[in-house]
Amino acid sequence: MADLKQYDVVVIGAGPAGMTAATYAARAELSVVMLDQGVYGGQMNNTAEVENYPGFDSVMGPDLSEKMYSSTTHAGAEYAFGTVESLEVVSDQEKIVHTDSGDFQAKAVIIATGSEHVHLGVPGEEEYQGRGISYCAVCDGAFFKNEDVAVIGGGDSAVEEGIYLANIAASVTIIVRSNQLKAQPVLQKRARENDKIKFIWNTSVQQINGNEEQVTNVDVINNQTQETGKLPFSGVFIYVGLRPNTEAFQDLGITDDQGWIVTDDHMKTAIPGVFAVGDVRQKNLRQIVTAVGDGGLAGQQAYDFISQI
Ligand SMILES: Cc1cc2nc3c(=O)[nH]c(=O)nc-3n(C[C@H](O)[C@H](O)[C@H](O)COP(=O)(O)OP(=O)(O)OC[C@H]3O[C@@H](n4cnc5c(N)ncnc54)[C@H](O)[C@@H]3O)c2cc1C
Repeated sequence: MADLKQYDVVVIGAGPAGMTAATYAARAELSVVMLDQGVYGGQMNNTAEVENYPGFDSVMGPDLSEKMYSSTTHAGAEYAFGTVESLEVVSDQEKIVHTDSGDFQAKAVIIATGSEHVHLGVPGEEEYQGRGISYCAVCDGAFFKNEDVAVIGGGDSAVEEGIYLANIAASVTIIVRSNQLKAQPVLQKRARENDKIKFIWNTSVQQINGNEEQVTNVDVINNQTQETGKLPFSGVFIYVGLRPNTEAFQDLGITDDQGWIVTDDHMKTAIPGVFAVGDVRQKNLRQIVTAVGDGGLAGQQAYDFISQI
C-alpha cells in the first residue's frame, strides 16, 4: 500500500484521554500518532470553565486543551487530521486504521473517540440548529447577549453551561424533565443562588418554533398535569445525554448493546493490542480527570504489549 504510514501506536481521538495516552506512549520511546477529525482538545473545547481539574482553581477548557497538546507534542507524539472510518485487525501484531485521508499501520491502537450529545428529537430541532439551537454554550453563548435562553436538561453539563450563559444572557431558564437536578451539589447550589437562573420542573419540550430565520419559542408540556404552554426564547441549549462515537468499531465485537466500548481495568478490549480510554468506554464517571487517568494507563499498557510481541 503506497501511503501506509507506520507507527508503533495509533491513538484515535485527541481529546484529554487520547492526548494523555499519546504522551505516555511517546515517553516510552514509541512512535505515536494521534488522529482526530477536528481540532485537538475534544469536548474540552466546548467547555467554558473547568473547576474540577487538579492543579487549577479554574481553567478555560480551550486553554487546558492547548496545555495538554503542548505536553503531548513535547513528549514526541505527532498529530494528524483525519476521520477514522474503520479498524482492521490483521493479527495481534498488526492493525490498520483506515481514515478518509489515508491508512495507518500500528502494533497497538488506542481508541479515544469520546461521545457526542444526544439530540432531543423534536420538531424544529434540526431546522433551527445554528439559528438558535446549540449544544455548546461556550461556542454560541455570545450570540445571545442580553437575550432570554433556555437550557434543556438537569445534569452536570446543563447546569454548568446554564451558569456560564447567565453571565451573557438576560435570563436562563433550565427546563428539567423530572422534579430534581442530577448535577453535582456544588453546581446546583451556584445555579439556585443565581438571580438570572430559574427552573421549570417536570416539563418536556415538545417542539421548537421559529420565524423561519431563528428560534422564537418552544412548546412545552408538564409531565404530571399534561398542561401545555408556549415559552419565548431566542436560544435553546440542549444537554440531554451522550452517545458513544463508535460507528467505526461496531463490527469488532468490543462494544456493549448501547455502543460503549468494554474494557478491563487496564483499558484492554477483547482484542489484543486494542485499548479504549475516556468517555467512549463503558464507565460511570465521564470527566477530564477520569479520561486522563485512562489515558495514562493505556499508554503504559501499549508499551507493555509492544515489548512482548
Ligand atoms: C459542555 C460540557 C462541559 C463539561 N464540563 C466538564 C468539567 O467541568 N470538568 C470535567 O472534568 N469534564 C467536563 N466535561 C466532560 C469532559 O469534557 C469529557 O469527559 C472529556 O472531554 C472526555 O475526554 P475524551 O478524550 O474521552 O473524549 P473527547 O473529549 O470527546 O474527545 C474525543 C475526540 O475524538 C475525536 N473523534 C471522534 N470520532 C472520531 C473519528 N471517527 N475519527 C477521528 N477522530 C474522532 C473527536 O473529534 C474528539 O476530538 C464537559 C463536557 C461538556 C460537553
